[in-house]
Amino acid sequence: MLHAARHSTWLEIDLEAIRHNTSRLRDECGTEVMAVVKAGAYGHGGAMAARAALRGGAAWLGAARVEEGLELRRQGIVAPLLILGFTPPERLAEALEARLSLTVWRIDHLEAASAAASASGRTAAVHLKVDTGMNRIGAPPAEALALASRIRHLPALVGQGVYTHFARADETDRTPTQKQQATFSEVVHSLDAAGLRPEWIHAANTAGALAYPEARWDLVRSGVGIYGMHPSPAVPLPEGFEPALQWKSTLTEVKTVAAGSGVSYGHAYVTRRDERIGTVAVGYADGFRRVDGNFVLVGGKRVPIVGRVCMDQCLVQLDAAPEARPGDEVVLLGAQGDERIGAEEVARRWGTINYEVTCGITERVARVYR
Ligand SMILES: *Cc1c(COP(=O)(O)O)cnc(C)c1O
Repeated sequence: MLHAARHSTWLEIDLEAIRHNTSRLRDECGTEVMAVVKAGAYGHGGAMAARAALRGGAAWLGAARVEEGLELRRQGIVAPLLILGFTPPERLAEALEARLSLTVWRIDHLEAASAAASASGRTAAVHLKVDTGMNRIGAPPAEALALASRIRHLPALVGQGVYTHFARADETDRTPTQKQQATFSEVVHSLDAAGLRPEWIHAANTAGALAYPEARWDLVRSGVGIYGMHPSPAVPLPEGFEPALQWKSTLTEVKTVAAGSGVSYGHAYVTRRDERIGTVAVGYADGFRRVDGNFVLVGGKRVPIVGRVCMDQCLVQLDAAPEARPGDEVVLLGAQGDERIGAEEVARRWGTINYEVTCGITERVARVYR
């Protein structure tokens, strides 16, 4: 393999898959797409993923924090970019200079953004967030009209969008999302009636976009879908999306360990006979969790990680891959031969969701782009 000799552990990221998935989602939904590239594009690398999504037709980018938006701008990304979280007043001047669109939901946000914009002779583009049931951030629906009107009347503000966020669009029970959608529709209609409807109305994340066509509005905000990962077991991606990320490492050692020997810290695993044990150059400091029951692929076969995962290394039992030799490729996430380990499978084993699996892969793991 091309990169095996250079890196201990690395991600192979297929930018063409991100481009393709973005375009696929846009066709599926018939609306514009905001590519959500927060948290380093869920581990895929923020700027590289953003460019691929833009090539796939994304009209917008979404970041969680002003720090992320500024970094994307430093990397030369000029596309419309919405900060989905709270922007501290101390960072407003920088955010406006970088032409980041801001999420606002309180009168003090409007006043601070307006003051910062006036002070620098700019305007602040804002999206009003309405809380229809997530109970995280956003204005109460009853306050939306007054806030939208205030945005219209503050000369340094440009009301670019109004949006909400679903708490349970990835579940089988449709009632909670339908309720949020109904509340949000009422808000949009009241804005319409008052002549305050902005250009961009948006509500759905990937699961919402796929399962609730009525919630697609002008724009869908997709993270997990453009990376080719399933929103949930209840809302899988349709045909034609491709996972964009593979996580690999190499065998740095292969040896026969005598029967009855303890392996790795605490000797938590003891060989039952003479066993072929391999060492893999990946550990919990890379984001590979220190839990029992991990599997990886070696020689196209599924093989168990045995003993405790160390900070930088772990050990693998190679009965199923008798030909394995030092230098062989190990796949933690992705395909090898006819076998595949998805982020969804690892998430089940770790008692979490696929999002946390890829977001948890640390900076130390090299990113290699195709
Ligand atoms: C993260 C996020 C998204 C993207 O969600 P996916 O489930 O990855 O599609 C959309 N909207 C908001 C507000 C978010 O924070």
